[in-house]
Amino acid sequence: MESIKYPYAIPLKYEVFYGTKYNSHRRVKAILIGDILGRTPEFKNMSYDQQTLIIKEIEQGCYHATCEEISKYEQSADWTNIMFRNIYNYICGNLFQNIDPNSEVQSKYLIEKILNGNIASIDLCKLGEMNSDDLCPDKSIEIKKKIQERANIKFSKKICTQDTCRKCKRKEYVVERMHTRGLDESDDNRATCVFCQHTWRI
Ligand SMILES: [Zn+2]
Repeated sequence: MESIKYPYAIPLKYEVFYGTKYNSHRRVKAILIGDILGRTPEFKNMSYDQQTLIIKEIEQGCYHATCEEISKYEQSADWTNIMFRNIYNYICGNLFQNIDPNSEVQSKYLIEKILNGNIASIDLCKLGEMNSDDLCPDKSIEIKKKIQERANIKFSKKICTQDTCRKCKRKEYVVERMHTRGLDESDDNRATCVFCQHTWRI
C-alpha cells in the first residue's frame, strides 16, 4: 500500500521509528519525508543509514518545533490534544511544501541544506510561526471573505422623483444603492417612499 502511495519512500528502519517515542502520526511523516527526498538523485545515492538519519532529524525537528509552539499556547504536548496534532501537521506540511520539488513553492534553499547535512541550521521553529489562520484555515478563509465583502460594499442614498410610489402614488422616494465591488453579485438598488415607507427594488 505505502509503496504505491509513496513511490519514492524508503522503508522505515524498525529500530529507529518503532521505538516508544514514535507513533503512527510521526511514522507517517517519516514516510512522507522519505518520499519527498527520494525524488532527488542526491538522496537516492546516499546509504540507507544516511537516509534514515536525515529523515529522523527532519521529523524530530518538526516534532520539537511543535512542542515549542504548543507551549506558547499553554497547552500540553500530547498526541491526544488536537491542537498539538494540528500544529505538528502544519509544521510538517509547511516544511514539505518547501522541500518538495513538485510543490508550488519551488524552494531549493531548504532541500540543499538538508541534502548537505545542514539540517541543524534550519530553523524549523520558524515554520511553526503561525496565527489562528493556520490553525483553522477553512474557518478563517470564510471569515476573511466576509470581511472582504463588507469592505467592498458601499452604500449611497439619493432622493428621486421620476417614479411613482405604487402604494400612495406620490413621487418622492429614496434610492439606496449597494455597490459591491469585485464581487459577482450585481448592484442591489432599493427604493423607499418618503411618505408611506413602501419599498421596492429597482
Ligand atoms: Zn408611498
